[in-house]
Amino acid sequence: MATSNASIDIKAGRLSPDQYSKNFEDIHAPLTRHEAIVEADRCYFCYDAPCMTACPTSIDIPMFIREIATGNPNGSAKTIFEQNIMGGMCARVCPTETLCEEVCVRETAEGKPVKIGLLQRYATDHYMADIGSQPFERAASTGKKIAIVGAGPAGLSCAHRSAMHGHDVTVFEAREKAGGLNEFGIAAYKSTDDFAAAEVDFITSIGGIEIKYGTALGKDVLLEDLIETYDAVFIGAGLPYVNDLSIDGDDADNCIDAVKYIAELRQSDDLSKLPVGRDVVVIGGGMTAIDIATQIKLLGAENVTICYRRSADAMGASAYEQEVAQTNGVTIRHWLQPKALHVDGNMVNAIELEYTSGTNGSLSGTGETITLKADQVFKAIGQTPDDTPFTKTGIELVKGRIGVDENRKTSHAKVWAGGDCVAGGEDLTVASVEDGKIAAEHIHKTLMG
Ligand SMILES: Cc1cc2nc3c(=O)[nH]c(=O)nc-3n(C[C@H](O)[C@H](O)[C@H](O)COP(=O)(O)OP(=O)(O)OC[C@H]3O[C@@H](n4cnc5c(N)ncnc54)[C@H](O)[C@@H]3O)c2cc1C
Ligand code: SF4
Repeated sequence: MATSNASIDIKAGRLSPDQYSKNFEDIHAPLTRHEAIVEADRCYFCYDAPCMTACPTSIDIPMFIREIATGNPNGSAKTIFEQNIMGGMCARVCPTETLCEEVCVRETAEGKPVKIGLLQRYATDHYMADIGSQPFERAASTGKKIAIVGAGPAGLSCAHRSAMHGHDVTVFEAREKAGGLNEFGIAAYKSTDDFAAAEVDFITSIGGIEIKYGTALGKDVLLEDLIETYDAVFIGAGLPYVNDLSIDGDDADNCIDAVKYIAELRQSDDLSKLPVGRDVVVIGGGMTAIDIATQIKLLGAENVTICYRRSADAMGASAYEQEVAQTNGVTIRHWLQPKALHVDGNMVNAIELEYTSGTNGSLSGTGETITLKADQVFKAIGQTPDDTPFTKTGIELVKGRIGVDENRKTSHAKVWAGGDCVAGGEDLTVASVEDGKIAAEHIHKTLMG
């Protein structure tokens, strides 16, 4: 696809079929059995292990590593799944460098942590290939009905734990596929071979979970009705909207919502059909900015520049994530904020950015600007919630997100919530899985007295 505006270079099929497959292969080669055992032997099996404390789902890391070391990968996987039913996806996407591996005593002592993420992947992949269906059985039916909104990590985790306790679960999912951002958002090279869909099948194989696709809360079903019909409701609807740049030209055809483009990329069965600019500018500093920049570069863009308004340390993306982008040829520029888009017709052809300076959280423009040529501009400056479905029920909101207590209970007696849609969360897959699990346990306790 070429654009109508002659000065703008956007086209599909910039690479050969071989280059597409090579660029989008698994970012980390899985460990072989021998490599896994050698790596597992590096673990000190610490008492009061710091890695376990740093894991948001409290997986017994020394235990699962010991089980690998003793040649029992399926037992190891069960140890992982007991705490985190999405252990397979989390092994692929967790920023371990800022969680378990950051605090591993091997990291502190010698700057080389035990490769916990890769070991977790080894065990969970082994189990899924060897046994397939997940290892838990449903308790006897309780006759209680739970409604879950959203089939992302938070919703699926809550669904699984609730089904395990014997409750009947109905998941209302707006899209035609489950998985949430695991299916539509995570970078393609982190989740290859349709792993997100395989994991949904694995989780739902426990039984007692019905997913109603194409059913959006606020449109096809109302929260008030769910509260009326079900014994408990869990909301895991994520963050459906993205922030705009709030400058003129923001709505131009090639000023693109990064999350939407990534969703198209993830669902594409032919990467050579995706439109790719020659010069691309990405605005933002989190994981989404890194992911869109890296993937558009891997799709054949020539010059990709991330512009972020603060320092490298202040970026939401970890140092490791920044390095992934840079080693793939992305340039990261700091202390720059968008000032104006140069628009010709309905297409942006350049972006003007102002240098910023700041201390202790304050930030201001210096007045000095630069202009970068841009065939595509990607907006990756954060996602926002949709609070409209909740307003009628009077559920307490904090800056548009749902307020919850430590049990993930909202201000409504029958409603719990978790994942990205709640206030104060970490916006990570693993944190969403934990929210779903905690909520399911508390719902169970509440319903069963
Ligand atoms: C581009 C990108 C890359 C990321 N990369 C990573 C990463 O590498 N590692 C990591 O740990 N985290 C990553 N994250 C964050 C992570 O994906 C999220 O924290 C996690 O998916 C949140 O889970 P969730 O279940 O709360 O929401 P979601 O995954 O967003 O799922 C919400 C579900 O609810 C559905 N839904 C929404 N509204 C409604 C409605 N009204 N009615 C019914 N259903 C509805 C949606 O269709 C979706 O299926 C990334 C996020 C993005 C955007
Ligand atoms: S901190 Fe490191 S060495 Fe200690 S138990 Fe955890 S993985 Fe093993």
